Amino acid sequence: MDDCVTIKKKHLQRPIFRLRCLVKQLEKGDINVVDLKKNIEYAASVLEAVYIDETRKLLDTEDELSDIQSDSVPLEVRDWLASTFTREMGIVKRRPEEKPKFRSIVHAVQAGIFVERMYRKTSSMVGLAYPAEVIVTFKIPVPNLISFAEALEVGYSKYKNPYHNLIHAADVTQTVHYIMIHTGIMHWLTELEILAMIFAAAVHDYEHTGTTNNFHIQTRSDVAILYNDRSVLENHHVSAAYRLMQEEEMNILANLNKDDWRELRSLVIEMVLSTDMSGHFQQIKTMRHTLQQAQGVDKAKAMSLILHAADISHPAKSWELHYRWTMALMEEFFRQGDKEAALGLQFSPLCDRKSTLVAQSQIGFIDFIVEPTFSLLTDSMEKIVMPLIEEATKSESPAFGTPGQNSLGGVSNAEAQRRPGFKSTGDGGAHAENSLATVDLRGFRDNLMKIIQANKERWKELAAEEELGKNVGEQEKDQSRNSTDAQLQEETTRTQNESSQGSDGTTCPPRSIVLQVVSFDTPLSDESSSEKCTISDPNQKDLSDAQQETQSTDPLNGEPKHCKKSEDIVKATEQTEALVQN
Ligand code: AMP
Ligand code: MG
Ligand code: ZN
Repeated sequence: MDDCVTIKKKHLQRPIFRLRCLVKQLEKGDINVVDLKKNIEYAASVLEAVYIDETRKLLDTEDELSDIQSDSVPLEVRDWLASTFTREMGIVKRRPEEKPKFRSIVHAVQAGIFVERMYRKTSSMVGLAYPAEVIVTFKIPVPNLISFAEALEVGYSKYKNPYHNLIHAADVTQTVHYIMIHTGIMHWLTELEILAMIFAAAVHDYEHTGTTNNFHIQTRSDVAILYNDRSVLENHHVSAAYRLMQEEEMNILANLNKDDWRELRSLVIEMVLSTDMSGHFQQIKTMRHTLQQAQGVDKAKAMSLILHAADISHPAKSWELHYRWTMALMEEFFRQGDKEAALGLQFSPLCDRKSTLVAQSQIGFIDFIVEPTFSLLTDSMEKIVMPLIEEATKSESPAFGTPGQNSLGGVSNAEAQRRPGFKSTGDGGAHAENSLATVDLRGFRDNLMKIIQANKERWKELAAEEELGKNVGEQEKDQSRNSTDAQLQEETTRTQNESSQGSDGTTCPPRSIVLQVVSFDTPLSDESSSEKCTISDPNQKDLSDAQQETQSTDPLNGEPKHCKKSEDIVKATEQTEALVQN
């Protein structure tokens, strides 16, 4: 028997023994309630640890979930994990083009590393102000950039998705930017690679239909036929974005030479295709294996991991943001469920708005997908960046931010060799705050993990209520099958109003029984959402900071402003429902 099994057995034997004793005491009527509670809690925590460990192991060793026997993972969550994050198949028009009100992608792109640098000097270009030498250096014609970004936004708005919309694109782009800066990985990448990262993030869900790959496959959609059921959406996102650039006025890559163009394209294709969640476990396994090898990490693989992590990063952001994103995604899933019902198809996992266990699915998502991804991300960044920091410390490279020098302007020979695409920007690029000297990988990891844990705890509270609600609901069904949805909605509203008043009179995402779907159809113009919900630790640096780095007026780009008064949440829900019905 291996050591692990022996240790686990020992750990399990104690609670088993304790529980048996308790049963005996109960039989004798000789029991102290405090002891009983303590022991049950202890047993629950042991079972929880075993459940996480076992399920992770199964996910790790097999690229399939079908073998999971554990009853502790709710069936629905298991089905969803299997059909979404492995290659196992689950179950499964053009509107008049209008300009979106907000130019989120433009803002995100503007906030990108190069453009950030461009802002340091101004010239008189209409709309955006960049110095002439910067435009020459960075080769992207600004009018083309604007046309391209606007076209992207139109594409992201095409299906009016609650989740996969232009804000998600901006969010992921900004998060990639944040990760590159705060892990120091930008010092390992060439400028072409940094551009590829930002570009891939911006286009990674372009023209998302609001339905999953499995839905496309099941309904034999045109794109599924076109791409032979393989990474259907992801293939479309890259292909359609590149098609935009076939138009001269949108060709932001017009000035790249052939080799750079091909290299960038190859990286972008690899990164965006790797956002297909069905490759998740394989991707994680391959990268873990790479980290154990002595040789260096493959750049395209590391970059793909950054994009993949950014794509699922909202659980690493403040609860207010995470909650909103989750509810937006759930609404998108539910709309797919509505379509499935209308087409006489079986509901895909998490798509039945009447029975989906939102909180439980979130715990599964965090435990099995998000935590391992971010843990791998930080391990990878450490393996890559630590040697750079050591080297920079020894050679006092400017990338280390030696006083009097800038971190990105003048580069040492070693740095220039590592970053062949690098061109000095003279004194224009001083960013001491982004130098290798300021990189705090441990702080980055600790904060992320702390926030992810805190969010998981919030879901656990809600899951307990959800479970309770399910049982109550089942009892009610037995008693009376006449209870209408309208009554339920009334109860929902009442419970929420009672339970969610914060101490400052504002409303937090409900901690109570009902998980409300917040509409994302009109999120950006809703002034009433600008009240602060919880007091977050201002010193706590999480990925939400990524959003604060942009100067955008989007509500998602700032301190948590997303808690609505409960009536607003209900109103938003009603709007959502109305939209679904229409
Ligand atoms: P993408 O569709 O490219 O944005 O990839 C992200 C995918 O991660 C989504 O489609 C979902 O499958 C999954 N995902 C992201 N956030 C959540 C969440 N809160 N709960 C469940 N799945 C999620
Ligand atoms: Mg996608
Ligand atoms: Zn995405």
